[in-house]
Amino acid sequence: MPEKVIVIGSGPAGWTAAIYCARASLEPLLFEGAITNENQMAGTLPLGQLALTTEVENYPGFPAGNLEAYLDDAIAKEKRQIMGPHGKEGVSGPELMELMRQQAVNFGTRVITDDIVELDVDNRPFKLTASDGKTYEAEAVIVATGARANYLGLESEDKYKNKGVSACAVCDGALPRFRNKPLVVIGGGDSAVEEADYLSKFASTVYMVHRRDELRASKIMANRAINNPKIDIQWCTVLDEVLGSDKDGVTGVRLKSTAGKPDVELEASGVFLAIGHTPNTAFLDGKLEMNDKKYLQWTTPGRTYTSVEGVFAAGDVADDYYRQAVTAAGSGCMAALDAERWLAAQE
Ligand code: NAP
Repeated sequence: MPEKVIVIGSGPAGWTAAIYCARASLEPLLFEGAITNENQMAGTLPLGQLALTTEVENYPGFPAGNLEAYLDDAIAKEKRQIMGPHGKEGVSGPELMELMRQQAVNFGTRVITDDIVELDVDNRPFKLTASDGKTYEAEAVIVATGARANYLGLESEDKYKNKGVSACAVCDGALPRFRNKPLVVIGGGDSAVEEADYLSKFASTVYMVHRRDELRASKIMANRAINNPKIDIQWCTVLDEVLGSDKDGVTGVRLKSTAGKPDVELEASGVFLAIGHTPNTAFLDGKLEMNDKKYLQWTTPGRTYTSVEGVFAAGDVADDYYRQAVTAAGSGCMAALDAERWLAAQE
């Protein structure tokens, strides 16, 4: 018997879709991704991008406070034992994701810790192949595989991830370690301006490091950066190394000139990458309609329908604009309701 619904992906969109599907008696099977070195390097381990962040202060329902007892109570003991220690300040990204996972499991979601590497959309039920070679069939599929932030690939950048290196100012920018300190944003597009502008509310100075002498950002956004007295654009420079120590995390950056000028070292307590995201859609190439940046395309306004009937998309895999945990969760709910109603219409 084919599954009624298979959910691919284990970020906020995937777990929310699973919770709604489970409560609608669709008995969802969810692929949370494989635990491999390759996925670790790519930032695509189970539980998604939020599991790579520290405190989450903008997901509604988690004001500051000590959640220790709640986490002990809500999350299965065997999972709780392998989680990192609670920081005593509201919820962290990994904690929030374990809570969502547990909630989906509590309602009967079955979870397989593997990647789906192939989705055959030519026939129904759809056929899915996992990385261990096993195949599965489903009447409906919800794709919630998310996106990964692009990094430069520097060793020092990797070393200080979560110790001052981040790819999400909105997620991490307001943390105490960044307050009233100089910060660095890498990139010259709309995201970089948005991040720099946001960070300028907390930082003493924001250095925007851009490799050319002209911003890629739209004119209105570019002017926002240029006219912000707290933003100092380092034109024609690239990040050469993140400087820091095990004890203090990031303490500065070394920048290289693309215009033949000498290297510069700047003091900074944070480095924010804003050089774009890559959606996790390689396994869907040629199967589902995508935009020019390879994000899945919703084909019906206000719905999570993709170009293939019965396949739905939720979260960052279909959203290169909002990219927030709460919006991903919201679209996961939408995808589950869309799938439920579509399945009912097939009977
Ligand atoms: P983007 O427009 O592709 O800009 C990426 C920036 O990173 C570019 O300035 C690029 O430099 C730089 N970059 C890329 N790879 C690099 C590397 N290896 N080393 C150094 N610099 C590198 O991406 P985005 O800013 O994330 O925006 C994505 C889309 O979302 C855009 O369509 C944007 O308009 C939209 N968006 C809109 C808003 C808004 O309107 N409020 C906010 C955010 C995003 P080059 O310029 O030299 O290529």
